[in-house]
Amino acid sequence: MTSFLYNGITIPERMRHLPIMENGMPLPTFASEAKTILPLNQHTASARLSAMANRRCYICGDKLHDLVSFIGGPDEAMSKLYLSPPVHPECADFIMQACPEISDALAPSNPGFFAVSTTANYEYDAEKGVFLISDSEEVWWSKGQRVPGDVMDILHELTQTLRAI
Ligand SMILES: [Zn+2]
Repeated sequence: MTSFLYNGITIPERMRHLPIMENGMPLPTFASEAKTILPLNQHTASARLSAMANRRCYICGDKLHDLVSFIGGPDEAMSKLYLSPPVHPECADFIMQACPEISDALAPSNPGFFAVSTTANYEYDAEKGVFLISDSEEVWWSKGQRVPGDVMDILHELTQTLRAI
């Protein structure tokens, strides 16, 4: 019987068509050419552009609906500028819980904390190569667990203070 679990977490239905890597992890669409998980800055421009032009999820490759999620670190969440292309909220949820190597690849600047910003309002600034988002709702993650928002606010302030010293 096929198992739809990876790291004890149920693989979302829309990710089940993806090839499975040797370790049992679904191979995200963005990695289908390289067959390995490379950091975002090593992804080809054509892979990113084709996902965006066709409004397809960067992880599962299926069509996106109005509500999409962006994966980043605290800096992205605060600036509302994301480098990583949009994904389905449930695909983001799954990789945050089960696939740290994918989360790290999509948000290389994360300091161990990830923000998943979900919104229907975003635009791509082709010149800067970033997504400008608004009206988003953030869910914070660390080590596969959700972190309450107020804890993240405190941590962010602390980080800013430490950087200023
Ligand atoms: Zn998806």
